[in-house]
Amino acid sequence: MEEWLDKPHVVLVGRSNVGKSSLINMLLGKKVVAVSKDPGRTRRVTFIPFGEKVYLVDVPGYGYARVSHREREAWRRMMEEYFSRYGELIKWVFLLIDSRVGVTPLDVQMIEWLHYRKLPYKVVLTKVDAATQDEISSAIKSVRKHTTVEILFTSSREGKGKKELLQYCLD
Ligand code: GDP
Repeated sequence: MEEWLDKPHVVLVGRSNVGKSSLINMLLGKKVVAVSKDPGRTRRVTFIPFGEKVYLVDVPGYGYARVSHREREAWRRMMEEYFSRYGELIKWVFLLIDSRVGVTPLDVQMIEWLHYRKLPYKVVLTKVDAATQDEISSAIKSVRKHTTVEILFTSSREGKGKKELLQYCLD
């Protein structure tokens, strides 16, 4: 029997180093995913049972500079494979964006891809504890150039946004 088909998926995507592992650990309330000092280390799609209701799906971060063309292609294929196999099961995609950086060209590609595949998603601005109000405002502006979906604000350091995210995961 095929695995990971019995519950909806909540998928977390974003650039490497965006704070994805920290956010997953915050959601789970324990450390299951290693916070990496070596960005670009997670190479596989990881399924994490989350309560009785959903799987959190951790996909490898993109945009790490020191990645070869071949690795980038492998990443794209892996994502295509994941989305074609599990697309129907996706309850939410959370697209993580660093609130100090804003939307990058690869995030724009991801947004276009999500639209093309008609996937339900929200933008999550991460690390708000480390950003100035100006940085957050320009991050919001950069998001709004590309999408009108809801934006959530999180800090894994301070536990900010946990309640809202949990609500979307578990409702
Ligand atoms: P990933 O590569 O997307 O999984 O990101 P990680 O969770 O490994 O975090 C990357 C870096 O950002 C690490 O140095 C974390 O300590 C830091 N980081 C993650 N979340 C936060 C946050 O909410 N606030 C701050 N200030 N730093 C964070």
